[in-house]
Amino acid sequence: MNAPVHAPLYPALVDPFGRAITYLRVSVTDRCDFRCVYCMAEDQHFLPKKDVLSLEELDRLCSAFVARGVRKLRLTGGEPLVRKNVMALVRALSRHVAAGDLDELTLTTNGSQLARFAGELVDCGVKRINVSVDTLDAAKFREITRWGDLDKVMAGIDAARAAGLHVKINAVALKGVNEHEFDDMILWAHGLGMDLTLIETMPLGEVGADRTDQYLPLSEVRARLSERWTLADIPFKTGGPARYVEIAETGGRLGFITPLTHNFCEGCNRVRVTCTGTLYMCLGQEDAADLRAPLRASEGDDLLHAAMDEAISRKPKGHDFVIDRDHRGPAVSRTMSVTGG
Ligand code: SAM
Repeated sequence: MNAPVHAPLYPALVDPFGRAITYLRVSVTDRCDFRCVYCMAEDQHFLPKKDVLSLEELDRLCSAFVARGVRKLRLTGGEPLVRKNVMALVRALSRHVAAGDLDELTLTTNGSQLARFAGELVDCGVKRINVSVDTLDAAKFREITRWGDLDKVMAGIDAARAAGLHVKINAVALKGVNEHEFDDMILWAHGLGMDLTLIETMPLGEVGADRTDQYLPLSEVRARLSERWTLADIPFKTGGPARYVEIAETGGRLGFITPLTHNFCEGCNRVRVTCTGTLYMCLGQEDAADLRAPLRASEGDDLLHAAMDEAISRKPKGHDFVIDRDHRGPAVSRTMSVTGG
């Protein structure tokens, strides 16, 4: 697991629109211990083990991207912390942070396993994590996640904060589900010194629900919130697509991720790799490149780098998500748990 980074050997990855690829999101497993209604079908089928990259292969793949200029690496899933022995991968990748080749190693988690892993994450140089919490109501939490236990997630968040991790809360805005809770969530998150980011639900995959029932434009949410709170736009950036405001009354930050009402493709610096080594150059497009075959074809990384170059030369300008009465189905067939959110 300790393949060296060959920084000088390979040039930076730059797409046809001049955007450098500096942020890689890697889904380390398609499995999850929750079944969020907007993300997965309840009877979701999972991939056979042989199709999934080993931890050593994931390390090689991530390291190849680091060698090409990726500075931020986010592990996600599925639920990254349910992947067996995932901390061995985190520990291996942390060498790039220690060497100064990576600015940030982070993860997005549902928090269910955080109480177990928070200390070790800090030990591996992880400084910030995103935890997905859509509601503070335990019964509603169970409904949204189908299988989740809010108390366990809260205990995980407490453990993460106690271990010294900066926690950002992500909540998907769902019409008629959590839309009246955002004031409480702001008070809760900011009261604990955590940023909160709201996300528009995206039409990804067939999940057995009508997207028009779930979709809540954040332009509407923002207008409503500004009746109670004083929101000031701030230039704060974390390398992702969120645009932030500071709330004067709490002194905390609130982010908006608006792939539908305000597409943010022009500054896209990201690509995503699934746990099978499929590279998606855009979250909202079907085009993809297989990196598993070149990875497994030889011990050296030349074939892999050639495949990365070829794929990045096809990175599209952007996506065009639409959810309305004429567009109830998914924009792409894969769910977020496959691509890695
Ligand atoms: N299991 C981890 C978690 O819950 O954070 C990581 C993977 S999950 C797919 C990552 C994020 O994607 C979560 O915040 C989830 O709410 C969000 N997500 C899933 N499906 C989505 C969709 N269709 N639209 C918007 N966000 C979605």
